[in-house]
Amino acid sequence: MIAITSTSLYKQLKLNKHHAYLFFSSDKFLNEAVALNFVKSLVCANGTACNNCPMCKQFESSTHPDVNILKQNSIKVDDVSKIINKLNTKPIAGEIQVFVILDADTINETAQNKLLKSIEEPNNSSIFILTTTKTDKLLPTILSRLNKVFVGQPNKQDKLHIANEYAKTGVDINFYPDTDCLLTEAINMSTNSAYSTTIDTIFNLLFALSTTADIPRAVDGMEEFDKNIFLTCLQDIFLSILNNNNKYGDRLNQLKMMYTNKAVSHIVPLIDEAYKKQIANVNFYFILDNLLFNILKERFLCK
Ligand SMILES: [Zn+2]
Repeated sequence: MIAITSTSLYKQLKLNKHHAYLFFSSDKFLNEAVALNFVKSLVCANGTACNNCPMCKQFESSTHPDVNILKQNSIKVDDVSKIINKLNTKPIAGEIQVFVILDADTINETAQNKLLKSIEEPNNSSIFILTTTKTDKLLPTILSRLNKVFVGQPNKQDKLHIANEYAKTGVDINFYPDTDCLLTEAINMSTNSAYSTTIDTIFNLLFALSTTADIPRAVDGMEEFDKNIFLTCLQDIFLSILNNNNKYGDRLNQLKMMYTNKAVSHIVPLIDEAYKKQIANVNFYFILDNLLFNILKERFLCK
């Protein structure tokens, strides 16, 4: 059994009040473990998957009346119909009923279309939890309705993949554990003005830095930006260098002249570290000064 301790992610997810989630990664068992533990935290009387309350005990013994788990090699329309019938009933033990579909890529296309309607028009007392190792087997219409949680500790490859596959579609992605990586929320940069303003500020900031002595003035001169998404945007910019995409046009080309791939590969984890500090409520400007100092250091060391 894998120890799952990311209560903060659960809290964060619950705050978002989504009614449909997809837990995904290449590790089927990890997906399942994280998803089921999340379900436990949803039904737990203490909201934490405490393992001690009667709800957790019922969950563990697979007798919780409001938790429905579907796991089979092929999921067809009939199976989805059963879920829909159950959706129309009221929860028994608590205020929500949870429908879990493990390895949701086994749902055939007709059944996915049938399921889509329930996911699109949720009722307030039901939550869907899906897992998969193959997001490409899910219909885009379904995918777009799910709050996606990447399970595990994404390596650089995973991040690039995710940046590639999802960032451009502007969907929400969360990471598990939440302190390990960025891109926590949507990277819907093209349509969200907070993102585009913050991106502009970051490029101006990076271009204003020639030596570490410039940091205080450059930081003071920063125009409008959103602190909550600053590091996410910063990392996305650097990931775009590694990724060699054309997301930021000329500005990115200009940045590529300043930062080699090697420098960027050192910078991306530095931003992760900064993000952890931000979550731990360390002063933002303190984090930023430190981070910029280290970014510049990498720039000059990895020429
Ligand atoms: Zn409990």
